[in-house]
Amino acid sequence: MSQTTTATAPLVTGTFAGLSTRLDDERRAGRTVGVVLTMGALHEGHASLIGRAAAACDVVAVSVFVNPTQFADPSDLTNYPRTLDADVALAAAAGAHVVFAPPVNEVYPEWPTPPATTVTVRALVDRWEGVARPGHFDGVATVVTKLLSAAGRCRTYFGEKDFQQLAVVRRVARDLSLPVEVVGCPTVREHDGLAMSSRNVRLSPVERTAAVSLSRALGTGADALAAGAGTAGVEAAMAAVVAEEPLVDLDYAVLVDAAELEPADAAAPGPLRLLIAARVGQVRLIDNLDPRASR
Ligand code: AMP
Repeated sequence: MSQTTTATAPLVTGTFAGLSTRLDDERRAGRTVGVVLTMGALHEGHASLIGRAAAACDVVAVSVFVNPTQFADPSDLTNYPRTLDADVALAAAAGAHVVFAPPVNEVYPEWPTPPATTVTVRALVDRWEGVARPGHFDGVATVVTKLLSAAGRCRTYFGEKDFQQLAVVRRVARDLSLPVEVVGCPTVREHDGLAMSSRNVRLSPVERTAAVSLSRALGTGADALAAGAGTAGVEAAMAAVVAEEPLVDLDYAVLVDAAELEPADAAAPGPLRLLIAARVGQVRLIDNLDPRASR
């Protein structure tokens, strides 16, 4: 990597022009750019993405924007945690040089009227999170397109934690020829296996304890697959784990192919993925696992 001249304190900007100008200058000086898009309330999962970007790129930009167009449930948007000062500190400590934290009217100038132009992905979105959260992936695809267009040529780091989102973003980047390389990064977990999520802070102590059943169910599903169970057996094994927790209301626990996320035969040779989603109290949580990894 070439030497960067960036100071320790990150540039915090709220305008697309501020972001673009800085990253254009960096590229013109021969430096490579890494971008991490977030909705804030940053935790170690986000830090791992920023760290990956910092290890591979000369300059790292992190966006913090709670994107209203991807929330199907208005109360979820209202209750989403907002912690910008702590986010800037965490991003800087993890290796970010630029934090882009725009007000909603910078991203959607006519808000609360949504934009007339949106990005709709036809593949991948008619199941799982796309069904549970109508319009969610259009909102994701639209804001990702806007943010990455402003960022320009870069590597961009997304978590496998949101596995369907990662697949959708790869698809958007390919279909719209965005000048980006999308890098998927492993899920960071709490000590007991719960996938880190900005929403976890909204769990009560008993709900937090119950929430670990999602990652336990994924492990049980992987064990069932390794023991020779078929798809129905794998999915039943996962559902049985969650059913033991009265505070957890299962939405889906499924075995899919890892590329198109379609229901998969357990004997299929290609990459598979276990996906799970459940409501724990008022909080919807998702998780996933490669059932054949390290087995
Ligand atoms: P969010 O702020 O929840 O929209 O997430 C921003 C990025 O961080 C997305 O690419 C997520 O997939 C990723 N991310 C969130 N939680 C984790 C985690 N526990 N491990 C790794 N990446 C994560």
